[in-house]
Amino acid sequence: MTTTLITDVDLLDARGRRPDSWILLDGDRIAAVGEAGVAVPAADTVHALAGHTLTPGFIDLHGHGGGGAAYDNGEDEIRAALAVHRAHGTTRSVISLVANPLEQIEESLRLVARLAAEDPTIVGSHLEGPFLAIGRRGAHAPEYLSEPDPVVIARLLDAGGSSIRQVTIAPELPGAIAAVRQFVAAGIVVAVGHTEADEKLTREAFDAGATLVTHIFNAMPGIHHRDPGPIVAGFDDDRVTLELVLDGVHVHPSVAQMTFRAAPHRVALVTDAMAAAGGDDGYYRLGSLNVTVQNGVAMLNGTQTIAGSTLTQDSALKCAVTTAGVDEARAVEALTLTPACVLGRDDEWGLLEPGYAADVVALDAEWNVERVWAAGSVVGDDA
Ligand SMILES: [Zn+2]
Repeated sequence: MTTTLITDVDLLDARGRRPDSWILLDGDRIAAVGEAGVAVPAADTVHALAGHTLTPGFIDLHGHGGGGAAYDNGEDEIRAALAVHRAHGTTRSVISLVANPLEQIEESLRLVARLAAEDPTIVGSHLEGPFLAIGRRGAHAPEYLSEPDPVVIARLLDAGGSSIRQVTIAPELPGAIAAVRQFVAAGIVVAVGHTEADEKLTREAFDAGATLVTHIFNAMPGIHHRDPGPIVAGFDDDRVTLELVLDGVHVHPSVAQMTFRAAPHRVALVTDAMAAAGGDDGYYRLGSLNVTVQNGVAMLNGTQTIAGSTLTQDSALKCAVTTAGVDEARAVEALTLTPACVLGRDDEWGLLEPGYAADVVALDAEWNVERVWAAGSVVGDDA
């Protein structure tokens, strides 16, 4: 095990900012933290990063790719996309899979299970399809959507095993509430999303064990004062975390700020990034669909439907703090401790405390990522 000491930095996590501090990494864990001048330990490598802020590594509950590569397209593309997001501070990634032919989803699930067993920064898979409302499908191919049939569910569980971390379900589909219970019983986080459900039905899904809302506000009915819908149900339930895509496109910054105020400690900033994240404008594929990216906005060809984002989590942090006016500790929490809680890993991910994972992001004064350690390894050095 080699030790790394990072000194002369501010530490910033969900518990607040600790100016002029140090942190000692030992292998894949944080060994100690402290204030400047107080019992600073020796280490194999020392980095003095004056003027920088260190946060815990970002955890992305929902992403589809980056750098021109998509998570649905096999091992090489998964690794290429992950490398892009790691360089932007994401140290733990859930691999989201879009609606595709069932055999293809099964193949992807088996692949992610294998990769997650080898690579601790790959958390597992997220089935965003196929159990989605056809009228709220976003960038999922309609021909591959299906009802949450127990036979289909059994095949998916068989292929992915315990590496399936999350599934998105529209609660109004036949059998959906039973499916929520079945997935929760298998230890999988169930999200309500891509849905037409009203408030009452959404509450039923939460009572059945769903604990997450897939990109709140997007791909669901908006709030009406006589028909509050799934958004109000999500805000109102303290058991539920709200995914938010904070790229300045998916939701207005004022609505993002309201979300943080109305659901304290329950917002998870996700990317929902497609292949163009960290890449260039142009033509891309998302699953079986064609997408055009212009000025960083991804749209399904021939429609006004947003097709995922081109976001990286460092940009979401910058947008939260500088545009939406979110308190810095609350913004960092939404990228670190809150998603760790959703995954049930908040005892080892999401804080800069001894015993936690050596996942650390060094940011300059303008919130730009300068250096990343993921599971103790310097990102870029291990490629
Ligand atoms: Zn998605």
